[in-house]
Amino acid sequence: MQLSIDLSGRDVLVTGSDAAAHQAVRRYRAAGAVVSRLSSPGGARHDGPLPERPFLVAAVDDGQPGWEALLDRCRETGIPVAAEPAAGPGGHVTLVGGGPGTTELLTVAAVKALRDADVVFYDRLAPYQELPALSSAELVDVGKRPGHHPVSQAGIEALMVEAALAGKNVVRLKGGDPYVFGRGGEEVAACVKAGVPVRVISGVTSAISVPAAAGIPVTHREVSHLFTVVSGHAPLTEKEHRHLAGLGGTIVVLMGIGTLHQLAAGLRRAGMRADMPMAVVERGYRPGQRTTIAELGTITTAAAECSNPAVLVIGDVVRVAEANRGCAEAEAELDRLAASLMGA
Ligand code: SAH
Repeated sequence: MQLSIDLSGRDVLVTGSDAAAHQAVRRYRAAGAVVSRLSSPGGARHDGPLPERPFLVAAVDDGQPGWEALLDRCRETGIPVAAEPAAGPGGHVTLVGGGPGTTELLTVAAVKALRDADVVFYDRLAPYQELPALSSAELVDVGKRPGHHPVSQAGIEALMVEAALAGKNVVRLKGGDPYVFGRGGEEVAACVKAGVPVRVISGVTSAISVPAAAGIPVTHREVSHLFTVVSGHAPLTEKEHRHLAGLGGTIVVLMGIGTLHQLAAGLRRAGMRADMPMAVVERGYRPGQRTTIAELGTITTAAAECSNPAVLVIGDVVRVAEANRGCAEAEAELDRLAASLMGA
């Protein structure tokens, strides 16, 4: 069960050893509580005056014997006791897939890792605006934004390794899935090379979820039984155009706005039909989400105003979305009709 209470200005006593309790202390301070500490059950070691009667006791499980008697006394006198997990061992890196940009599509493991982090290095494709609500960690923007130089890949890796070697729980939050055009493999290698323990939490990739946001299934029975995910960061070769055109199924392109023109022309040269349906889905799950639907032969003009981030989808599955939208509209029309007949 999860409860939200306003703790601003409330006295909270955090019990537990300093090593185990430091994250809980930070979380309660971030929530606006006035925190006092009791680091051993004897009460001999505590910093700051103990509040007479705290609003809440946050009991961190530090494995020391003797806390139960104290906590029982609190409960008996009507002071609520919240059990808190101890901070995990410091000095490691977790690469976290942040999904396509909404906290709704973060995994449970991602939420836990963010909660336990001491420092989060994030970029702009991750759901970064909501980070302060998910983590009391230090938040460091290493991504591109207008007027700011992004930190280089080598720079990001150095920052992560340095923080982990200083004993911190480091989260590297990335858009989508860390292993899909996310340089996750390089970041893992940098940690391994420095002797820093590292793990990877998969995320919901934009390659599948952004088409879905526009109602486009990347596969559909009897329409497409395979999908290929391609980076449009650099133009493809003629051989690659031929392979893609010959493969059939759905083609999903990430980072493809800058090379859209070359891709459409290349696939046409490789023999793909001009009326192949195509969609550009911009800013999936974010304000201003927009879908542009055209055909391979007309997309360059239709999508002239489109900008990054966007996912391109080429294939007959684009029609499935249109047909489903048609069904939804027809159903809504029937509902309206039924409602008006009932009212009559
Ligand atoms: N690792 C990421 C992809 C990184 S490459 C993942 O698995 O999703 C960055 C590209 O992802 C962008 O150029 C764009 O093509 C796509 N992308 C990521 N988030 C997106 C979103 N919310 N809407 C549209 N495209 C998105």
